[in-house]
Amino acid sequence: MNAATVSPGSRTTIIGAGIIGVVIARQLQKRGHCVTLIDRNEPAEGCSRGNAGILAAYGVAPLSLPGILKKVPGMLLDPMGPLSIRRQHLFNMVPWLWRFWRASEAGSVERIAAALETLLESTVSGYKALTRNTAAESLIKDSPVLCVYENQYAYEKDQLVWRVRERHGVRWNLLKNSELRDMEPALAERYQFAAALENCGFTLNPQRLAQVLFKEFIRDGGQFLRSDVRDIAMENGKPAYLHTSACRHSIQKLVIACGAWSGQLAQRLQEPVPLQQERGYHVTLCDFEGRGPRYPIMSPSQKVIATPMEMGLRIAGMVEFGGFLPPDYRRSTILRSHLTGLFPGIQGGNIMQWMGHRPSLPDSLPVIGRSSRHASVFYAFGHQHVGLTAAPMTGKVIADLLSGDRPSIDLSPFRIDRF
Ligand SMILES: Cc1cc2nc3c(=O)[nH]c(=O)nc-3n(C[C@H](O)[C@H](O)[C@H](O)COP(=O)(O)OP(=O)(O)OC[C@H]3O[C@@H](n4cnc5c(N)ncnc54)[C@H](O)[C@@H]3O)c2cc1C
Repeated sequence: MNAATVSPGSRTTIIGAGIIGVVIARQLQKRGHCVTLIDRNEPAEGCSRGNAGILAAYGVAPLSLPGILKKVPGMLLDPMGPLSIRRQHLFNMVPWLWRFWRASEAGSVERIAAALETLLESTVSGYKALTRNTAAESLIKDSPVLCVYENQYAYEKDQLVWRVRERHGVRWNLLKNSELRDMEPALAERYQFAAALENCGFTLNPQRLAQVLFKEFIRDGGQFLRSDVRDIAMENGKPAYLHTSACRHSIQKLVIACGAWSGQLAQRLQEPVPLQQERGYHVTLCDFEGRGPRYPIMSPSQKVIATPMEMGLRIAGMVEFGGFLPPDYRRSTILRSHLTGLFPGIQGGNIMQWMGHRPSLPDSLPVIGRSSRHASVFYAFGHQHVGLTAAPMTGKVIADLLSGDRPSIDLSPFRIDRF
């Protein structure tokens, strides 16, 4: 069905105005749908606010790779390490961790990587199309991402992940010593080897990117309801309206795009999912002295990524399982020290710190597609570490489904009933 044949008066409600909900809203609107976006906060105040801003077409390898179980204890015991589980949350995690470990089997890794490839590979062109002739156009940068190592041996030890990338269309150039130094003079001397990843990019400000797209949506007639969705009410076995903190909102078609908060609403529709809040942190350093990087820099040994943004230099990372417990900002101190280790020439500056909840399923794949129980309900959540990257394709395929068009990628790996 094309825009002209979308039935008049047919209204789609999207819950969640993070990057996923906003991009879906914009794609649907462009195809003639009437859309209401609901969020309890202003747009892009959740995980989409403070991420590292990378358009990570290379992010095809699942987090759970063969041998992961051997690495976890060391990471948990290292106080400076990238992984932590809050004690109060450990018990909740057991079934998720079991499924996470199962996803590391070789066959699963290939299947997951193939699915992620379809979702991520066209991210830069997707954002260019979405932002063309808008105030967000200049926020999208075509750029290599430099994945840096102390030496070639360290890169070779990391071959498991590079082989998965290679099999799934990711391309890169290797840089040694002076080649790396010429490209990125701000980088510490001890990094002597890097892979410059191609076909990726970054945004100068992920929150402003989503906010501009949201403003375009409103300018073109989209509706926004700022309220908390508390329940989905049924009539004759079908979802009929939302109970929100502001009103009773009747629904025709519904998209659930609430990021890390989506599990409760899916459960209400009898579609339980093992969704965890995988917390990550950033530190953004503004008004500093000295030279910062020109390109995004990823350090696999510390599992951090540093991105030059319009408001300063951001370093982001950390995996902390702790549900909705308060942030532990000791993690910011660790990130700040990694920033100094990567760019020793930087001095002073003011720090902004932040924690966000990545919506993570144990197989590193999101849920995208139609509900298996209710024909009028669609899901788009669980994008873990790559939600910014995956938003254009997610928006496109949800718009395809709602318009009656055949999605351009196979959505079966993203089914909600796969668990
Ligand atoms: C430290 C860190 C670095 C990252 N770096 C990158 C990166 O470089 N590249 C990348 O691609 N991804 C990155 N990510 C991941 C990315 O940020 C997320 O995958 C993405 O933001 C998820 O978007 P979302 O729209 O699904 O969720 P969110 O942005 O969290 O939006 C969900 C929205 O739903 C609303 N909501 C929830 N429940 C309700 C309710 N009941 N009623 C009303 N509103 C509700 C919330 O208020 C929120 O606004 C990073 C994440 C972190 C934490």
